Order: sequence, then C-alpha cells, then structure tokens
Amino acid sequence: MEPLFTPEQLAEIHAFHRPIYIRAAVAPFANLALLLLILGVLVQPLHRLSVAIAAGLERRLGFLRTTPVSRAFFHAMDRLWGEPGWGAAVLFALSTHLFVSLLFLPVDVWFSYTLEHRHGMSTQTPATFAYDMLKGQLMAAFAISALVIGMFGLARKLRNWWLVLGVPVALLLLISGALDPYRSRLFYKQKPLPDGPLRTRIVELMDKADIAFADVLVEETSVASRRLQAYFAGQGPTRTIVLNDIILKELSEDEVLAAVAHEAGHVHESKWPARAASSLALVALLFALDRLLRLSAARGWFGATRFADIRNLPLISLLFFLLMLTARPVSGAFSREREYEADRYALRLTGDVASFRRMLVKAARVNKMDPAPPRWLVLKGMSHPPIGERIASLPPS
Ligand SMILES: [Zn+2]
Repeated sequence: MEPLFTPEQLAEIHAFHRPIYIRAAVAPFANLALLLLILGVLVQPLHRLSVAIAAGLERRLGFLRTTPVSRAFFHAMDRLWGEPGWGAAVLFALSTHLFVSLLFLPVDVWFSYTLEHRHGMSTQTPATFAYDMLKGQLMAAFAISALVIGMFGLARKLRNWWLVLGVPVALLLLISGALDPYRSRLFYKQKPLPDGPLRTRIVELMDKADIAFADVLVEETSVASRRLQAYFAGQGPTRTIVLNDIILKELSEDEVLAAVAHEAGHVHESKWPARAASSLALVALLFALDRLLRLSAARGWFGATRFADIRNLPLISLLFFLLMLTARPVSGAFSREREYEADRYALRLTGDVASFRRMLVKAARVNKMDPAPPRWLVLKGMSHPPIGERIASLPPS
C-alpha cells in the first residue's frame, strides 16, 4: 500500500500541527491560572464596576421602565430575577467573559486565522473572519445572559431550583439534537443536493440502512475553509444529510457514499445510555452547585451577601472547567470506540472497503490530518481515532 503522505507532505503536516499541540499542552494551565486570577483578584473590582455601570444606565435609561413596550420587558426581568439588580448581574457575567475573550483574542486570531492561512486551510478574508467571530461572541453573550437570569434567578426564588431547572434542561438536552439542522445555517448557506446519480444512490443507501431523513443538503463552507466534511444533523423527521461543497469536489461518488455510510453508523448506535447518564450527571451537578452556593453565602466568599450571589459565577466556571478536564478523557475514549464501530457499520452497509479506504486517505490529505498525533493528546480526549490507526484497522479489500 502506498504511504499516506510523501515525506514533504508529512513535514508540512507536522509544521501545521506543532503549534496546535503546544497550545493543547499549555491551555489547561493557562485557563486554570486565569480562573484563579479572576477568583483571587478580579471578582470584587469587576463586580463594583458592573454595579456602577448598571446604576449609570439606570439613571440615563430609567425612563424605559415606564414607557409602554419596554415596561413589560423590565417587569418580566425583575420578576425572573426576583428583585431589581439583574442588570448589574448580567453586566458582571458579560464583563468577566469579555475580559477572558480579549486576553485570549491575539492567540485565538493567530490560531484560527494566521496559522490556517499559512498552511492553506482557510479561505476567509479578514472581514468575513471578523464577522464570524463577532457573530460567535454575540451568540455567547446571549447564552451567558440567559444562563445568568435563568439559573441565578431561579435559585434565588426556589429552594429546589436545581431540580426545577435540572429536569427540564435534561429533557431539553435529550431533544436538542432536533435543533441541530438550524444551527450551522447561521454561518453557512445550504441548498438541496440537485437530483442526479449521487442523490439517487444516497436515497438507496439510506433505504438499505433503514434511516428516515428529510433532505440531502450541500453546505457552502468553501467560503471559509478548504476542509472536506460530511455529517448528519437532527434526528427523526428533522434529520438532514449535510455534505459540504468541498467533499463533492474532492471525492468520487463511491467515496461520498462511504462517508455517508459512516455517518449512518452513528445513527444506529444506542444513544440512550449516554443520554440518560448525562441527564443524571446534569442534575447531580446542579445539586452540587446548590451546596456550593449555600456554603459560599454562609461564609461570604468573594463578597457574596446572599444565596446565589452573582459573584459566585467564576467559582462555578472553575468547577465546570475541572469537571470537563477530568470527563473529557473518558468521553473521548467512548467516542473513539464509536468511530471504529461506525467504520465497521459502513463497511457492512456498502461492502466496499476500497472506496472507504480512499475516502479516509483523501480526507487525511485534504484536511491535513496528522496520521499519528502524540499519545497524550489522544488520551486527553480526542473524539476521533488517529487517521493512521483508522486506515490500518480496515480489513483488506
Ligand atoms: Zn464519525
């Protein structure tokens, strides 16, 4: 079998990945140090600043409390929060997030723009890059505000808030997959795959796999990236098969079918044990948060003057960070096993090992994947097995 890459290609791939690996090694320590800095030094000044800004806004925009339409909004927010003061809480959460984002901005831009361009992986202009980043930040700001008002507001009002919040959010997580198809449309244009041999063969393949789906869409990601990609979004009646425009350009019909067959394998894996486990973990996490918030209120940590004081938010971030750091190696191991299983499923479905291998090889070349990343990186929680190992584990064709 010909080698996956020429020595020159391999050198280029290593040059591309070296900085990424260094960041992966350093990031946990940098994030931890930053969280400790915020907790140790910045909570009080940032909170005082937020209270002052909120008071200034109140003086200038207070008339909105009495004008007809906005009155309803202020009234609703006061009720959700349980008392006035939600403005300062939201500002505190947003300013903490802004501080962290600005601090990491140069590094983030270098990795997702400079490095990507240096190795020919990105097609974004500075303007489209900045616009996408801004969109992402606005979505984050909205999510943070909703979390602050929802979680802290509820905790202030109900003793068993962790149960009242945990159960519906867990249920929401169970069905959130149904919303998938709409998320990436915020970033890329999608249009139906035109009628033709490829569409016909995909329909036949899904029929054979006994998977219902709504449509096959082509996502125009080439405006941003040169990577090829295929995925299934949504589930049941909202399930859509999404192929990006690069995969249609780079892969033959048989190879596209191999990629679709792999994704079909993910549909058939049993998701309920994992979902039930994560729902339970969520409720347990909220219960632990409740205990932590009560302890913090009793001891007055970070200047907290009451239960569910917003000044505890960075502490919650730290808890969440440590939890993710320890959970990822475990969830990564499960995920890699599922990838192998989906590969085996795809081979059973199509019976075409040669096309499947060519699909993986082309994906590795186009996406410049490192065939053998360092072991510690894999164990830290990579979601996919190294592409070299995936190809090596295929049966002979
Ligand atoms: Zn997969």
